[in-house]
Amino acid sequence: MPFAYYARLSPARQRIYRESDAIQSLEPPPGVATGDHVARLRSSLAAASRADVQKASQALIDALVAGYGVQKIRVRVLAQRPADEEGELHGLYEPDDPPKPAHITVWMRTAARKDVVAFKTFLRTLIHELCHHLDYELYELAETFHTEGFYKRESTLTHALLQSESTTGDIPG
Ligand SMILES: [Zn+2]
Repeated sequence: MPFAYYARLSPARQRIYRESDAIQSLEPPPGVATGDHVARLRSSLAAASRADVQKASQALIDALVAGYGVQKIRVRVLAQRPADEEGELHGLYEPDDPPKPAHITVWMRTAARKDVVAFKTFLRTLIHELCHHLDYELYELAETFHTEGFYKRESTLTHALLQSESTTGDIPG
């Protein structure tokens, strides 16, 4: 059952939507160790260090992107989320032509209360933006849509990453 906006898309775009919707899960690339990166991201976010959160996010994305064999991404972590009429912006994905990297921007504090974003929310946002990149670069879709399949890919990869962290050992989930 596609989202309501599907009905307003052209037949060509509906085809892309259906392709996206049909891909129901996304595992971390085989042989790529992600647990330490995830643990480092959690601790740097807990310490509210923007520079360390950016380094940890970049290291995780580098490992995933290398594992999937796709174009590089430069990650930018900014302090406070901008808010607009639509609500708070969580993350932003901006494609570019290789060899230039694509860009992901994520915010580590909420706009309203300036609190540091919860770890799982932050990780999910980062992976959400990565999923837009993978739509273009891994699945070679001409557009990236928010489909049910898209959210399932975001979800399964985020859960697998959290799982990889807990199997690393020392940090309780
Ligand atoms: Zn999105």
